[in-house]
Amino acid sequence: MKAEIISVGTELLLGETIDTNSNFLANEFPTLGIDLLWTTQVGDNFNRLEEIIRTAIQRSDIIFMTGGLGPTEDDITRETLALALNETMIIDKDQEKKLRNFFASRDRQFPEKNIKQASIIKSAKFLDNPVGTAPGWWIKKNNFQIILMPGPPSEMKTMWFGQIKERLLNKSQDVLVKKIIKTSTLGESNINEMIESFLHGENPSVGIYVKKDGVSIRIAAKAKNQDIAYKMIKPIEMQIKDILDTYIWGEDDQKFAQVIQKVMNQHDLTLGIIESASGGNLANEITNIENSSSFFKGSLVAYQKDAKLFSGISQEILESEGTVSLKTTSELAKQAKQIFKADIGLAITGVAGIDTIENKESGTIFLSITNGEKVINKKLLLPGNRTQIKNRAVFLSFTLIKEFLDTIVIDANHDST
Ligand code: ATP
Repeated sequence: MKAEIISVGTELLLGETIDTNSNFLANEFPTLGIDLLWTTQVGDNFNRLEEIIRTAIQRSDIIFMTGGLGPTEDDITRETLALALNETMIIDKDQEKKLRNFFASRDRQFPEKNIKQASIIKSAKFLDNPVGTAPGWWIKKNNFQIILMPGPPSEMKTMWFGQIKERLLNKSQDVLVKKIIKTSTLGESNINEMIESFLHGENPSVGIYVKKDGVSIRIAAKAKNQDIAYKMIKPIEMQIKDILDTYIWGEDDQKFAQVIQKVMNQHDLTLGIIESASGGNLANEITNIENSSSFFKGSLVAYQKDAKLFSGISQEILESEGTVSLKTTSELAKQAKQIFKADIGLAITGVAGIDTIENKESGTIFLSITNGEKVINKKLLLPGNRTQIKNRAVFLSFTLIKEFLDTIVIDANHDST
C-alpha cells in the first residue's frame, strides 16, 4: 500500500515546531505493511495545500494528514480537502451536538466559529477526538483513502491507537520487520567493508546508519506475516553478529546503560564516577534507566580544579600533571572507586569547549577505569562542538565500561578454570 503523509502548519515551515507526527507515523507503518513513499510539510496556505492533495491522490493509495483542524481562520485543511475532492461541506447535526456538549460539560460557552469542526463531506466518516474538539475524517473515495487527524501529537496518537491502527492492521497484507544491531568502536566505513556482501540484498535489506549511540545495522524483511519475516532475517542476523562479534553492544531499542546494568548486576558489581568534561551527562544517561541504583553508586561532577580536590586527589598530581591529563584522570578513577566504595571507578576529563586548556586542544578527552587491579586509560580526540563532544565522551565511556567488563569477566572465567 503506497502511502504518504502531509503535515499541515506554517509553524512547521518556520522551524518553530518539529514534525514529530510524521516521525511517529513513519515508525508505525512498517509493521502494518504500509510503504511510506513521501512526506510533505506544507503551510496553512490554500493553493499550496490543494496542489499537494491533488498530487497525493494521483500517486498514493492512502494519505495521512495532520494539522489544520482547529476552529480558526487559518485552519483550512477541511475546506481545502473538500475543494480538491470536488465535494461540499455540510454541518453534521450529531457532531454539532457532541461539540456543544463537550463545551457544556466543561462549563464553557460554545464559540460559534467552532461549528466548522462539525463539518464533513460525503466521502468521509468522522473519527472521534476524545481528548480535543477537532474530530478527524476517514475518507474513502475512488481508489484512495485519506485519513485526517488533529495536529497536537497527543490528540493524533489517541486517535491513531483508538480508531485507526487496528483497522489498518486488519487490512494489511505484507508486513515489514526490522532487526537493529548496535555497535561501538568501529566507524561506518569499517563496518561497511566488513559486511559489504550483505548490503546489496533487497528483501531482506541491510543498511548502516550512524546515531548518537554508535553505528547501527538495520536488517529489514517484508513478508506475509511477522514470523516469516523474522525467519528471513535470522540467518543474516547470525552471520552479521558473527562478523561484528565483540563490537556489538546491543540490539533494537536497547540503551547502552541497560546493557551495562545487566552485566554489572550479573556479576554483582557497582560503579562510581568522577566526571569533569561530560558535566554529569554520564550519570544522567545511567539514571535515565529503571533501577540504575542496582549498580550505580553515584557521580561527582568535579568541574573546576578545586572541585577535583574534593575527591581526595593529591594537589601535587593536579599541579604537576595538570587537570586534563592521563595521570590525573587515572588518579580520579581510583578516587571514584574509593569515595563511592564501588567495585569499579571511572573518570572523565577533557576539553569540550573551543579554547585550548593546558595545551590540550578542543575535543581532547581522557577516560580511565579501574577495579583496583586492572586499569584501562584512553586518550581520545573527538570532533564536534561542545554538546557533541560531551555526548561522544559519554558514549565512549559506555564503550570503555563494556571493554573493561569484557576483560574482567574473561579474567574471572580463567581464574575459575
Ligand atoms: P487544534 O484543534 O488544537 O487547533 P489542529 O489540528 O488545528 O489542532 P494545528 O493548529 O495545526 O492543529 O496544530 C496545533 C499544535 O499541534 C501546533 O501548535 C503544534 O504544537 C502541534 N503540531 C501540529 N502539527 C504537528 C506535527 N506535524 N508534528 C508535531 N506537532 C504538531
